[in-house]
Amino acid sequence: MYEILETFKNSGLHGTGWPVTTYAVVPASILGDKIIVQNSTVHAEKRLVQKLSQNIGKVEDLQNLTNLKIFLNYSPCADCADVIADFARDVRGKLQVHVVFASLYNIQRESCQKNCNHKLCDTVRHEENKEGLKLLLEAGVILKTFCAADWDELQATLGFNLENIVRERWDDGLDEDEVMEDDLWELLGEEIENVQRLNEMKEEWIEEQKEKWIEEETERRLSEIKEEWLDEKEDDWIEEETERRLDELIQKWLEERKDDWIESEVNFRWEENLWDPWDDDEDEDFREVEEAWEMEQEQIFMDNWEDDVREQYEGDVLREAKNEWEIEEEETFGNEWESELRGQHEDEVLCDVEAAWETEEQFKFEQIWENENRWLY
Ligand SMILES: [Zn+2]
Ligand SMILES: [Zn+2]
Repeated sequence: MYEILETFKNSGLHGTGWPVTTYAVVPASILGDKIIVQNSTVHAEKRLVQKLSQNIGKVEDLQNLTNLKIFLNYSPCADCADVIADFARDVRGKLQVHVVFASLYNIQRESCQKNCNHKLCDTVRHEENKEGLKLLLEAGVILKTFCAADWDELQATLGFNLENIVRERWDDGLDEDEVMEDDLWELLGEEIENVQRLNEMKEEWIEEQKEKWIEEETERRLSEIKEEWLDEKEDDWIEEETERRLDELIQKWLEERKDDWIESEVNFRWEENLWDPWDDDEDEDFREVEEAWEMEQEQIFMDNWEDDVREQYEGDVLREAKNEWEIEEEETFGNEWESELRGQHEDEVLCDVEAAWETEEQFKFEQIWENENRWLY
């Protein structure tokens, strides 16, 4: 491990001999344990991508856009850049690949121009290696040189206590990391800025989608709850209203029966001489007949005919009640929902919708951006 850290520290220091080993280090992540590979007959980056590709199944299961950081002591050569770019495209929308390197490999550095006029530094592959880095940026890879936080993460990954690492150049005393960062910006500043702009656009776009989705989804869920509530109200109201109207009709029908019955009973009593001849209070006789209706006859009519009457009117009454619901009541209840009940549900629904955005939807939109929109710009 000590060897690895030293190699990172010594790579690319201007004016010194460079280590021959390339390491690729990936810190532990939800994809698995840390990975460390070095070059053999095959470049370290290619071996790393082979290893990462074995875990591609885990990538499929990811529920959030996840950062994958690759630490290199040298920036990748054109061939390796190609391989990493392919990998980055394969995992697009699931993994955000970062490549962090301690030095620019086989590339003309702007600082070098002034310093040694490229006499000390091997730059024969400058053009193709530069194109390789561009390719990585185009594939959505985030490229950067080491900063203090990266040294900390590398040390932690390798199991070291954190030390403040400053790489001082022997020839001019400058901080190599700072010079390296400036050189990368000289080399690819415009392209890196484009990527940053693209990332800002993505954030803005996601924010817009979030607002829109949350508003629409909240509205959709609230109207679902409203529909359910209205359906329940509709059933109850129509049942009660039908019952009420039927009772009214039966009452009316009974009134008619009562008048008919009393008339015929009075006639009957007259004909049969059932009136008490000594009693001249006719009102009392009528009251007796009425009482007889109330005590007995009314119930007899109800028992014998109520079901028939109900059956006869039920269909019409139900139709009328439904009609009445549609014309008038549905809207009345709808207004009641909007003015009183909506507010009671709003907070809870919004809370659920926001949680749904976090756990699921944001990721879907991030993928849409990565797979479709990014390439439009
Ligand atoms: Zn390579
Ligand atoms: Zn130089």
